[in-house]
Amino acid sequence: MISVEKAHMIILDKVKIQDSKKVKLDESSGMVLAEDITALFPMPRFDNSAMDGFAVRSVDIIDAKKDNPVILKMIGGIPAGDKGDITLGQGECVQCMTGAPIPKGADAVVMVEDTSGYNSGPTVQIFLDAYTGKHIRRKGEEISEGEVLVAKNTKITPAEIGTLSTFGYSKVSVYRTPKVALLSTGDELVKPGQPLKTGQIYNSNLFVFTDLAKRVGAEIIMDDIVGDNHQDLRDFLSKALLKCDILISSGGVSMGTHDYLREILEELGVKEHLWKVAQKPGKPLYFGSTPDNLIFGLPGNPVSSFIGFMEWVWPVIEKMMGLNVSHALNAILTETFPREQVKTRFLFGIAKWKDSRLVCAPSLKFGSHMLTSSLKANCIIKSDPGNGPLKPGDQVKIRLLPWKQIL
Ligand code: AMP
Ligand code: MG
Repeated sequence: MISVEKAHMIILDKVKIQDSKKVKLDESSGMVLAEDITALFPMPRFDNSAMDGFAVRSVDIIDAKKDNPVILKMIGGIPAGDKGDITLGQGECVQCMTGAPIPKGADAVVMVEDTSGYNSGPTVQIFLDAYTGKHIRRKGEEISEGEVLVAKNTKITPAEIGTLSTFGYSKVSVYRTPKVALLSTGDELVKPGQPLKTGQIYNSNLFVFTDLAKRVGAEIIMDDIVGDNHQDLRDFLSKALLKCDILISSGGVSMGTHDYLREILEELGVKEHLWKVAQKPGKPLYFGSTPDNLIFGLPGNPVSSFIGFMEWVWPVIEKMMGLNVSHALNAILTETFPREQVKTRFLFGIAKWKDSRLVCAPSLKFGSHMLTSSLKANCIIKSDPGNGPLKPGDQVKIRLLPWKQIL
């Protein structure tokens, strides 16, 4: 039995970041950039108006007031999208809409609300003074040409998609989505929707794995329940290993007479790197690899499988996708926590802010078969081994469940 820390080192050492590929911007959501993206031009690209109004020379309207307007000659109009090839002389103004280029000679914009309006004839009354640069968006004030806009290894979200399209990118280089095969083993498992016979239970792990795999951003290429039958398991596993980057199974890795998984994986050429980790729940964790696949065998108890996925598989998928692996946070216990003497103990819990400190309390349902312990949880609490239970006020690590919020 090896420690959780050692197991993490062994596993992360085997993880390779995926190759990259070019995808269309509108297909890149949730993927991770495999290149630094730079600004191809300064932003704004040219001086332009921040308001609908009139481009002016500020020196011409120094004393303009509502009861003492300055009258300027209107020599034209520039809508957004226009080249703006007009030059302004002394005593002149130009209609200039939001986003339109500032004409030569002008150094400020007066909002239309501070004038007699667009339809006041060949002259316009200006009711407010201006300073150089007023209501002008300056070329390059947001970002200069060549600056890194979005750094490599950034996950693509609405902010990145919007920014990349602003700079004209239609395709970007991203890391390939890891392909996962999901397996639940057990003769007792029945699909929800069908009646249960004595001794049978409904399969839940495959549903949990499916949802987690989608949330972390993997592509599910195979998923099935397979009975505790050597040939059926071998068929599923051999097919899966041909196609997937990661195989994640639940059940069949413990000490039962029908726990065949390790033996079949060995027959199929998978190298076992670890089996049994000093953790509760989930001690009989299995991890193996081939040159093309990583294989996780999580124990079948629903809490072991769920927490096991979050602790062991989620960070691996993040790393393969090119993300920085998410880190645990420190939190202060508000309740006692059943620390284990030689095993790292994980429990679902609820984290909150209290007096600007992150505090947490574990679920009171301690059993690894009790999946309802996950229902209100927004985190998984982790305690290193040690003597006696942890007390309120003691510090623990927590892993926030990314789809939940801190209350
Ligand atoms: P195993 O790891 O195969 O020994 O299974 C441990 C416990 O988890 C047993 O009580 C199984 O019935 C239960 N179990 C295994 N797979 C699942 C599953 N897919 N959904 C719900 N419970 C399961
Ligand atoms: Mg089983």
